[in-house]
Amino acid sequence: MQTHQYDVVIVGAGGAGMRAALEASGEVRTAVISKLYPTRSHTGAAQGGMCAALANVEEDNWEWHTFDTVKGGDYLVDQDAAEIMAKEAIDAVLDLERMGLPFNRTPEGKIDQRRFGGHTRNHGEAAVRRSCYAADRTGHMILQTLYQNCVKQDVEFFNEFYVLDLIVDHDLSAGHVPDGEEVNATGVVAYDLATGEIHIFQAKAIIFATGGAGKIYKTTSNAHTLTGDGMALALRRGFPLEDMEFFQFHPTGLAGLGILLSEAARGEGGILRNGDGERFMERYAPTIKDLAPRDIVARSMANEVREGRGAGPNKDYVLLDLTHLEPAHIDAKLPDITEFARTYLGIEPYTEPVPVYPTAHYAMGGIPTNVDAEVLRNNTDVVRGLYAAGEVACVSVHGSNRLGTNSLLDINVFGKRAGRTAAAYAKTATFRDLPEDAADSVIATLDEMRGRPNGERVSDIRRELQETMDANAQVFRTEDSLRTCLADIRTLQDRYKNVSVQDKGRLFNTDLLEALELGFLLDIAEVVVIGALNRKESRGGHFREDFPDRDDEKFMLHTMAYRRPLDDSATVESVDGTEGVFSEQSVFDTYKVMLGGKSVVQTRYEPMERKY
Ligand SMILES: Cc1cc2nc3c(=O)[nH]c(=O)nc-3n(C[C@H](O)[C@H](O)[C@H](O)COP(=O)(O)OP(=O)(O)OC[C@H]3O[C@@H](n4cnc5c(N)ncnc54)[C@H](O)[C@@H]3O)c2cc1C
Repeated sequence: MQTHQYDVVIVGAGGAGMRAALEASGEVRTAVISKLYPTRSHTGAAQGGMCAALANVEEDNWEWHTFDTVKGGDYLVDQDAAEIMAKEAIDAVLDLERMGLPFNRTPEGKIDQRRFGGHTRNHGEAAVRRSCYAADRTGHMILQTLYQNCVKQDVEFFNEFYVLDLIVDHDLSAGHVPDGEEVNATGVVAYDLATGEIHIFQAKAIIFATGGAGKIYKTTSNAHTLTGDGMALALRRGFPLEDMEFFQFHPTGLAGLGILLSEAARGEGGILRNGDGERFMERYAPTIKDLAPRDIVARSMANEVREGRGAGPNKDYVLLDLTHLEPAHIDAKLPDITEFARTYLGIEPYTEPVPVYPTAHYAMGGIPTNVDAEVLRNNTDVVRGLYAAGEVACVSVHGSNRLGTNSLLDINVFGKRAGRTAAAYAKTATFRDLPEDAADSVIATLDEMRGRPNGERVSDIRRELQETMDANAQVFRTEDSLRTCLADIRTLQDRYKNVSVQDKGRLFNTDLLEALELGFLLDIAEVVVIGALNRKESRGGHFREDFPDRDDEKFMLHTMAYRRPLDDSATVESVDGTEGVFSEQSVFDTYKVMLGGKSVVQTRYEPMERKY
């Protein structure tokens, strides 16, 4: 076992992690630990763009951007955070430009901008061109630019190291720590894929930037590696997860596959049609039609299919029509995604419409933080030395539904803030002693999995989890479907206790790591479903057929999910006057998941009915 000491340790080398590293590494000794080689992080798969009210091509300002973000999130957005994001967006884009990012340009040489769902002029009048982009490879360019700048700045990377535990001085999952008492994060335990060796990193400040958890679903745009590791590690230490029931389904996944076709396709003029050739979004969102926010478009598509107006032999998808666009325009603005349609479906987008259906895309929820990226352990107290940014975190700027291009923005704005605050804290803090047995439970788990001669197969449990999530916790949800899903997850958790791996070796044992990732997926799926069961209303990405309306009276609150020991009689913090609203619990073996509520920060905007 090796041990290391750094002022700041960043877990994750996607956009959020590397943006944080650029801030922290100039100030204090910083290490980035990543289970992937940095440029393989999912940020590199992002296509359509990153928004900022630059007003380069038409009138725009940060206030309209803030409003769109709040309305897009169905008013569950913390408005102070959204305002910060919209204001700092402009510098975030310019930072990247200075670092060398090759944005598309207007004829005058300014950064070009295009339309994206839910981004409007003057509070909803018409769609506005706010998204900065580099063809349909914006995330690729961001990730490469950040990595090159990290290399230039000599940031230290530990690549293909999997963080498997978070070390804290008070483990809240083992028992109650009174509100107000100090809790510190002191290090992480990591596994080196190449050698199978365990490493302990002691740190004054730790930033989680581990990305999303799309692999809880079968049909998803997310990479194989998006298994919710950081979220699950925080949950297992007793820290809350916020608003996990809100998962975004992106309207245009390639039908049957889930591979993403960016919303930029509609931003550039693409139209959705049902099996009758009708432009159905005119019925659901008369003003901005195909450029309505994703939750609305995804539900409208699913509804067309349910009501028998789907396309194809089984009428189980709709069509994305680009055939009226000039081939030269398609080649210039949408080269990658049209190639996906050719490669994976054998469809020629110049002449044929592309079969599409909603695909699980983005976790609106995550580890709760304040606007300085400090992690909260209840509604008010921060965990000292622990920060989170990017898709793993919930600030909450996306509320119950994220607008397209707001995530590449989020990772840059809050990645930068996390790097800054963590470095500033590390300058004043001292290293705290780590317990002797810090890595013991990780080592025991690994030995047990490797040592089990036979047992349950990882791929079977994962497939069954993904299938039940797709069938029961997708675009439409009901009490019955969610209860079925939770029961399935429990059975799978039981079977998981007996999981075994075929590769018993030490070197590059990806089999073993997939088994551990499956454990994270099960934990996250459980929290998603309990939150969804409890939220007896429909808002943003969470639609309950049995409660089709938004209920601000009861549910204008963030959900906070906590894992606690079975024998812990303490209740979790909730907002006064919400008795009975967060009553759902999940009891399993040695722990229970309990829910609490947290207030939504409202500044400028009163909640209104959401129409487009
Ligand atoms: C196909 C696709 C297209 C998208 N297009 C857009 C778009 O056009 N605009 C937009 O705004 N958003 C888009 N998004 C969303 C956006 O790309 C992501 O939300 C964002 O890039 C997430 O960045 P991140 O830094 O938080 O995480 P990631 O980029 O996912 O990085 C996570 C990092 O954490 C590391 N990690 C994870 N677990 C561990 C562990 N246990 N130990 C060590 N390291 C770990 C990984 O190695 C990786 O480096 C898209 C998403 C997808 C899937």
